[in-house]
Amino acid sequence: MKIHNLKVGPIDTNCYLVEDETTKECLIIDPGDDAGAISQLIEKKQLKPAAIVITHGHWDHVGANKILKEKYNLPIMMSEEDVFGLKMTDSPAPDQNLKEDDEIKAGGLVFKVLQTPGHSPGGISLYSKEEKVVFTGDTLFKGAYGRVDLPGSSPESMVFSLKKLLALPRETKVYPGHGQTTTIGAEQDLPATAR
Ligand SMILES: [Zn+2]
Repeated sequence: MKIHNLKVGPIDTNCYLVEDETTKECLIIDPGDDAGAISQLIEKKQLKPAAIVITHGHWDHVGANKILKEKYNLPIMMSEEDVFGLKMTDSPAPDQNLKEDDEIKAGGLVFKVLQTPGHSPGGISLYSKEEKVVFTGDTLFKGAYGRVDLPGSSPESMVFSLKKLLALPRETKVYPGHGQTTTIGAEQDLPATAR
């Protein structure tokens, strides 16, 4: 597996292209903006996109959905509980509703859906036990967590979701929706007050 990261849009959303190096198939996670730059990278690396996967339905994570879906004929996958967020964008409606334990495949890569609401009601994380990685959207950041004061946010759900993520194996590498990568172990070691 290879993970390509592009920072897109006005608030540096992390868009990830997650590649199976054998088949060149990839998932596009959170194409928030800059469809041109994302397409260029896809073409440069000769990737074959399999799906667009959205960690949550906020504008800064879905801005390039329309162009990339049309260009590569891709399904958009996300939780239906976050579809309300798309109404403020030009994103097409999702093709597949994601819920707990669903599996998303690209070539030989398999990611399990973890429902991690709190920042938004339909927030999800994507976890691969084999590859020891988790994509956490705006739920868990390096040393922080996502805002819980937005429409649809729930501080109680955020506590539940953070506990769920921090129960993953320590060596799991965390790829958040904004900012730098971290590991579950490093986040477990932070005192609760630092978060
Ligand atoms: Zn967000």
